[in-house]
Order: sequence, then structure tokens, then C-alpha cells
Amino acid sequence: MKFLRGCKPKELPPSTGKKVSIIGAGPAGLGAAGDLACKGHEIVMYDQMPEAGGLLIFGIPDFRIPKSRIRNGIQELMDAGVEIHLNTKVGRDIDLEEIIQESDATLIATGTWRSRELNVEGKNLGGIHSAFDYIVDYHLWKYGYIDEKPERGIRALIVGGGLTAIDMCYIAREAGCQEIYLSYRRTREYAPAGRNEFNQLEKEGVTILELTQPLKFEGSGRVEKVVLGKNRLVKTGEGRPKPVPIEGETMTLEVDIVFLAIGEIPTPPFENGKYGILLNPDNTIYTDNEFRTTRRGVFAAGDVRTGPSLIGPALASGKNAARSIHNYLLTNEWPEELLRKQPTK
Ligand SMILES: Cc1cc2nc3c(=O)[nH]c(=O)nc-3n(C[C@H](O)[C@H](O)[C@H](O)COP(=O)(O)OP(=O)(O)OC[C@H]3O[C@@H](n4cnc5c(N)ncnc54)[C@H](O)[C@@H]3O)c2cc1C
Repeated sequence: MKFLRGCKPKELPPSTGKKVSIIGAGPAGLGAAGDLACKGHEIVMYDQMPEAGGLLIFGIPDFRIPKSRIRNGIQELMDAGVEIHLNTKVGRDIDLEEIIQESDATLIATGTWRSRELNVEGKNLGGIHSAFDYIVDYHLWKYGYIDEKPERGIRALIVGGGLTAIDMCYIAREAGCQEIYLSYRRTREYAPAGRNEFNQLEKEGVTILELTQPLKFEGSGRVEKVVLGKNRLVKTGEGRPKPVPIEGETMTLEVDIVFLAIGEIPTPPFENGKYGILLNPDNTIYTDNEFRTTRRGVFAAGDVRTGPSLIGPALASGKNAARSIHNYLLTNEWPEELLRKQPTK
């Protein structure tokens, strides 16, 4: 995958003397880095993981994106002088304020690295995992960054209807699960991942349980059973129909491992208002159309700005933010109304 666009590593324009720091080396951060390096700016990136690439490396399974393509694209960026500090979590290992002060512009592209929780009885039993965390750990193990293979089960239940749920089914199979069930609260035509992904999973032997959702997990210490409630869909006039529980209709499934994939939450490396940067109520970073935050010189792009999306939009977001950053470095202009914006109560 090509991140360096508009120049070649050995044919860079003269240095502008401006430094841009980028937090997060997923597609948004890498896309921005490639465009800004080709404008002659010095680029310094920070990422919490032991390898750059974000979900391109640690989220999406190999069969969808060959990792060599991502790694070649990142190597090309580094050949062009982009500096990447790995194993560096901003907010824990280095203060964001320090980075902002030392840079002419800063881009935050930290994605959505926290999972939504499911509030049902028994959710803390052993064997119940966040699918997102499991997938990241599985890739850490697979690429040799950790020694211990994440635990495997025999009968797995995956809960959700997005890409994380779908890919969790494939990874559960790869990890050794023999029977895989996918529970989704609507029907596949309303699933964020799309009907085709469900159809394909079915062909691969996954049992799809549409119109169901977990009501209770049971077991002594570790999950042994899940009680699934059945739903019907009610049209509301706007958006997707609402899943409504059918009273008294349940089914019980014996499982020994569960993966919850009911959505991810944006993870900016600070709390609302800290460093003068405001967040929206859904934890995305507040920006204007030019990717500018409420702090002069600080921009945001990718899923941390929009919520969970896809590779294409995240990459495009990084590139559009790069255009805006370059413009700021030339003009030093920042809208006063953004700087005056106050947190919403
Ligand atoms: C399991 C899964 C499967 C998916 N499958 C597909 C698919 O098939 N097709 C598709 O188009 N999209 C898919 N997506 C969505 C796609 O991966 C994302 O939309 C895209 O990666 C978002 O890019 P990003 O750069 O905004 O964030 P990310 O790719 O999440 O990158 C963010 C980076 O920021 C780093 N970071 C976070 N916090 C900090 C911090 N405090 N300090 C330093 N670094 C930090 C992270 O380590 C990460 O490297 C999938 C997502 C998941 C979870």
C-alpha cells in the first residue's frame, strides 16, 4: 500500500524546516505522513504498538490485506526520512503537551481502540473477551511480539454485526475453535458488515443466529452457557429497524468462549478539554471541515475524528488533513471562533 505520494524517497524537495508530529501510525496517520514528507516537512510519528500500521497490521486478518504490502509502504516512508517511535503511548510514555510545544503542527490519528461493553449478567465470567482486544493480541502473538498465544476455545460465540465480529469468526477458526456461532440482534441485511459477509461466513460453516442477543452468561468461574433472547424488528421511520425483544422467547447455547464485538469507541490520547482540545459527546475529536481542533496547530484525522469507518475513508482523511496542515504551515492562520469554543455541558 502506497503512503508516500507525490515524491520518491530519494527525490524529496528541500526541507521547509517545519516539524509535524503525528500520533498514531494507522492508515490516517501514515497517509498524512506520506503527503507531508513530499512537501519537505520533517515528520515524527508516535505509536503505542511495536509495529506501525494500526489496524492494517493488528486488526484486519492477513487474507484480506497481505501484510507485506503494508510493510513495504511503511518502509518507503521511513526511507523518505519519516521517523517512527514505536512502543510509545502518548499520554502514558510521553506527554502530548510536550509534543505540541516542540512541533509546528500536530496531527492526532489514534483511532478507536476501546470496545463497547455489554451490560448483561455474567459478563465478567472467564472466557468472555472483547473481540477487538483478542484480535490485537492474536496478531501480536502471530507476528512474534508476545510469546503467549491467546486462549482458544472449542465452541465459540461471537456477538455483533460489524467487521470486527466477522473477522473475529475467521480468527476464532484460525485459533482453533471448532464450532462457531455468530449472534446478531437484527437480520443480515441491516448488519454494518453487509449481507455478503454473513453469507460467506455461512458457507465457511459458521452458524448465524439472526435476531438474537445475549441476556445472560452462566458458568462457575468460566462461561459454560449463554442465554440468547430472540428479537423482532420494528420499523421506526428513520434508519434501521429497531430490534425489540420477544418476551419469553429464549434459547440456550453451550459455549466455552465468547467474543463481544458490539462496537469500538474513539480513543483520543487525552480527556475532553485537556490541552484546550474539545471532544464531541461520542468521544470523537471536535474539528472543523479543515481537520482543525480547538487548539492552534493541532489537527485530527481518521477514526478518532469520525468514529469507526473503513481503510479508504481513514486514508483519505489523513491525506486531506495533510493538505490542511501544509496550508497552515504556509499561512499560520487559525479561525478565532475555534479557539473560543467551549465544552458542551
Ligand atoms: C477487526 C477489524 C477488521 C476490519 N476490517 C476492515 C476491512 O476489511 N476493510 C476496511 O476497509 N476496514 C476494516 N476495518 C476498519 C479499518 O481498519 C479502520 O477504519 C482504519 O484502520 C482506521 O484507521 P485510523 O488510522 O483512523 O486508525 P487505526 O488503524 O486504528 O490506527 C490508529 C493508530 O493509533 C495508535 N494509537 C492509539 N492510541 C495511541 C496513543 N495514545 N499513543 C500512540 N499511539 C496510539 C494505534 O496503535 C494505531 O496504530 C476493520 C477494523 C477492525 C477493528
